[in-house]
Amino acid sequence: MNKKDSLLTRAQIQALRSSFGEDLAQDAPVAKYTTMRVGGEADFLLNVTTSAGLEKAVRLCWTEEIPFILLGAGSNVLISDAGIRELVILNRAKKVEFRDRKDEKPLIWAESGAGLGSVARRAANRGWSGLEWAEGIPGTVGGAAVNNAGAFGSDMAEDVHMAEILHLDNQEIRRVQWSAEDFAYDYRTSLIKRKEVDAVVLAVEFILERSTPEEVKKTMSEITKQRRTKQPPGSSIGSMFKNPLDDYAGRLIERAGLKGTRRGDVEISPQHANFFINHGDATADEVQALIKLVQQVVEEKFDLRLDLEIELIGEW
Ligand SMILES: Cc1cc2nc3c(=O)[nH]c(=O)nc-3n(C[C@H](O)[C@H](O)[C@H](O)COP(=O)(O)OP(=O)(O)OC[C@H]3O[C@@H](n4cnc5c(N)ncnc54)[C@H](O)[C@@H]3O)c2cc1C
Repeated sequence: MNKKDSLLTRAQIQALRSSFGEDLAQDAPVAKYTTMRVGGEADFLLNVTTSAGLEKAVRLCWTEEIPFILLGAGSNVLISDAGIRELVILNRAKKVEFRDRKDEKPLIWAESGAGLGSVARRAANRGWSGLEWAEGIPGTVGGAAVNNAGAFGSDMAEDVHMAEILHLDNQEIRRVQWSAEDFAYDYRTSLIKRKEVDAVVLAVEFILERSTPEEVKKTMSEITKQRRTKQPPGSSIGSMFKNPLDDYAGRLIERAGLKGTRRGDVEISPQHANFFINHGDATADEVQALIKLVQQVVEEKFDLRLDLEIELIGEW
């Protein structure tokens, strides 16, 4: 693990310090901000708690050319053991507003750092239907919008009414509104995820249907039951690989005989082979060793390359 020098210059660090003071931490452990709980330190980590703060931070980064990585709940990323040399912006902007409109469908507006599952549960308490599928997804609203998170036959592409976006285009930073179409969604991806634009999600407005709390909660508890039977407990990043066309990554890994394989403290779950579980002190290198093993064995056996659904961040 050879840690390289920070990518930030002294002038950039100074600009961040004078704008954000104590919200900027140095040599900050990042594992605790991820669901897999592995990875090293960020040279600099900035905690933002409002969408205005997120906008201010990203504007400064783009203006001063500060390289940065935006982290939501860290439930779709694997951080390297050597950590992160870019600035990490930790999005904890969690404000949520419920917009009940007479004779129209209800709307929920949520800052992008709000937990998707928590928004879904609060919608259920009001009897607003549409986000039941999101119960149990540990990501933020912003991470879900970028990834086109989905489950049980539904996804963000179906529920996003409008998103507030900060967009860098030809040196100009603009705050714009996107519809779901503007994200150019596909399976677990979007324009932003594919890095076809420089943009961050500040907030998302969801459009829902009126139902009753009982009905919505009933569907959610069925979803929770199904998740419990399929999804292994413990620290993971969810599905490691994308499902190939007309098949399931988990099924292929299982048929390759790799369920239960371990490297150090990481195990390919015996319950669901597309989940890798950190049993305690796993390292990112151990996770990567298992990723490579799976890709190699599945390719040898089925002549098919499994692509990562998760993102590798840091020094690999
Ligand atoms: C137990 C478990 C179950 C899961 N189940 C599902 C499931 O059923 N369906 C599913 O789709 N996924 C599932 N996931 C994966 C994950 O929760 C989703 O992909 C989620 O949308 C990621 O959100 P996040 O906030 O954690 O993003 P992060 O992991 O923090 O970030 C992911 C990427 O999005 C970018 N990003 C984050 N926020 C923003 C923003 N505001 N603007 C621009 N870019 C941003 C980051 O820079 C990074 O590139 C599961 C994960 C776990 C651990």
